[in-house]
Amino acid sequence: MSNVYVLYTGGTIGCIGKPLAPMPASQFAQLVASMPGLAQGQVAGLDVPIQFTIEPYTVGGQVQTLDSSNMNPADWVNIAIQLAANYAKYDGFVVLHGTDTMGFTASALSFLLQGLSKPVILTGSQIPLSSTLNDALPNLVGAITLAGKQPALAEVCIYFDSLLLRGNRAVKVNANQFAAFNSPNYPPLATVGTIPTVNTALLLPI
Ligand code: ASP
Repeated sequence: MSNVYVLYTGGTIGCIGKPLAPMPASQFAQLVASMPGLAQGQVAGLDVPIQFTIEPYTVGGQVQTLDSSNMNPADWVNIAIQLAANYAKYDGFVVLHGTDTMGFTASALSFLLQGLSKPVILTGSQIPLSSTLNDALPNLVGAITLAGKQPALAEVCIYFDSLLLRGNRAVKVNANQFAAFNSPNYPPLATVGTIPTVNTALLLPI
C-alpha cells in the first residue's frame, strides 16, 4: 500500500456555486470521497492499493484556499515547507493548484525541493470537480496514481490531461481546452491512456 499526501491549495478544481468560489478542503475531500472508486481515501481497483489524504494549505496555522492568481513567492516557499514537513510520512505528493500560475509554482518547487526521492505532482482542472462534465476527476486520479505507483519518479511535475510534464518546463498553453499544459522544449515524462507509459530515460535520476 502506498500513501499519497494531497495538498489542496484551491483553484478551479475545488470551486462550486455561482459565482464559482473555492470549497474548503474538508468539503472538497467529501466530494472526492463521493466519486466512484475514491471512497475512504483509497483509489480502488488497483493491484497495489493507494491510500491518499487531502489536507488544506496552511500559512502560519491559518487555512488558505487560493485562486492561484493571488499566489506569490511566499506561497511557493510555504507549499515547499508543508511538503517537506510531511515528506518522510508519505510515498508521493500531489498539489492541487489553480492553473493560472501552476507553471510558476511547479518551477519554483523544483528548485526549492532538490534531491527528491519521491514524486511531487501538481494538478488542477479547467472545470471544477463539482461540475458534471469535468476534467478534474481524471486529472486528480491520474496525479494520485502516478504519485503512488511510480517509484522511479522523483521530481516536481505537472500532470494535466493525460500528460506528465517536467515542472520547470511546463507552461499553460490554453485557457479553455482540457489540454491546458505543455512543455514545448522537453517531451512528456509520461502519458496516461489505458496504462501509464513512462519515458524512464527522461526522468531525473534518484
Ligand atoms: N483562476 C484559477 C486559478 O488559477 C483558474 C484555474 O484554476 O484554472 O486559480
